[in-house]
Amino acid sequence: MNTTTPRKTKLICTLGPATEDPEMIGRMMDAGANVFRLNMSHAKHDWAKRMAEAVREQAGRRGLHRAVLFDLTGPSIRTGALPETYDLREGDTVEFRKEGAAAVEEISTTVNYEGLMDDVSEGNTLVVDNGALLMEIEQVEDERIVCRVKTPGPLGSRRHINLPGVRLNLPALTEKDLKDLELAVECNADFIAGSFVRDASHVRELRAACDSLDGQAQIVAKVEDQEAVRNIDAIIHESDVIMIARGDLGTEVRFEELPILQRLIVKRCHELGTRVIVATHMLESMITQPTPTRAEVTDVMNAAYEEADALMLSGETSVGRYPERCVDAMDRIARRIERTGGHGYGQRVLLRDERLKTARAAVTLVDSLPDARLVVLTRRGVLANHVAMLRPRTPHLLAITPKDRVCRQLSLSRGVLAFKQPFATSIQGTIERACERLLEEGLVRKGMPLVVVSDILSDQFAANSILLHHA
Ligand code: PEP
Repeated sequence: MNTTTPRKTKLICTLGPATEDPEMIGRMMDAGANVFRLNMSHAKHDWAKRMAEAVREQAGRRGLHRAVLFDLTGPSIRTGALPETYDLREGDTVEFRKEGAAAVEEISTTVNYEGLMDDVSEGNTLVVDNGALLMEIEQVEDERIVCRVKTPGPLGSRRHINLPGVRLNLPALTEKDLKDLELAVECNADFIAGSFVRDASHVRELRAACDSLDGQAQIVAKVEDQEAVRNIDAIIHESDVIMIARGDLGTEVRFEELPILQRLIVKRCHELGTRVIVATHMLESMITQPTPTRAEVTDVMNAAYEEADALMLSGETSVGRYPERCVDAMDRIARRIERTGGHGYGQRVLLRDERLKTARAAVTLVDSLPDARLVVLTRRGVLANHVAMLRPRTPHLLAITPKDRVCRQLSLSRGVLAFKQPFATSIQGTIERACERLLEEGLVRKGMPLVVVSDILSDQFAANSILLHHA
């Protein structure tokens, strides 16, 4: 019997120059990475294609199911190209103008969003480069806005701009996103993330664009501004997965609000039954240092204790000096806290239909039996996700599915270990075959109670069945 308890919290690692070597990708899998993220803000198409292939290849060699997530850039607002960086002081006047408009102020840059002047008002705060520079908008004209520097800092080329609290009429998807989406579908992406999703229609638009290309990816909505937070329920309903993108969200709200929002979103995702990722700055200091700060350890532990489905590393694994150590650190921290239990938001899942009620009954049963295991027969992964969302205490949630893609997509779901196995003509046949496999893998012991939950149709069983079987 395999004595190592699998980690429940899943890990997403962003690939980049530090991890582009296929052997390194393999080592990251060995260290515990479950999903590989390609950040299309930085990735070239041929590179992204090579990375997606390398993930498949390395996973195949190891007999593992590992997913690829394409993260689209989204409609971000950026400053224009500048001949050199301005070193701005408090009180300086800065102009942001439409492309093609003549510069009036001495310190002036263009901005890539035509609608900016229509969306902002005097008194709004303009944040450059994730908070490196803060300004107040003093004047809004047809072709330009004039700002006063409040917190000094550098203003460089193509810097990211946030406008906390301002409702922006940016499109859901840019031309670049549509091209990147085509590539993602061509590369058989398992997940596609939409950046700066502000309401449910943006998620629908991304899903429709993916469907129109016959893409099979699940849709991740990145929550990164106040408008998305205001529309959170509708966004959760439309999405397969929510990502709490703390980088941008932390710029958009007062920083003391961020942990509260994180908790609120994780809790709401549980209640409404949608998977959730906590992302960004989890081990930021490890970009250059071999060990995490005490505060980072506590942050990772907190997110794992909240029982998020997955935690994400960005710069730590894409450009950092210690990518494998970062995965190892996340693994150690998550495993440790999982031994003490979690927040218990799984108790709050709203049981909206019979399927969810069946899932709850199965979880209650397995958690009441000593040393029992939970087996879910799932064709599309939906039932496995329902059951996982209830956060059973049993160490393994073993999902049996006939599809490779479903196995890969379940690699993001908390506590799920997925196995590919074709379904037999009877449920008994499927269970017997699954049992043999799990015994072989050392995941169950002979005679161990197995709670099998299924919604597949068969001659003998109606949909939504729970069966107590002994291995
Ligand atoms: C974030 O802002 O936290 C995030 C994940 O998005 P990106 O890395 O694309 O800025």
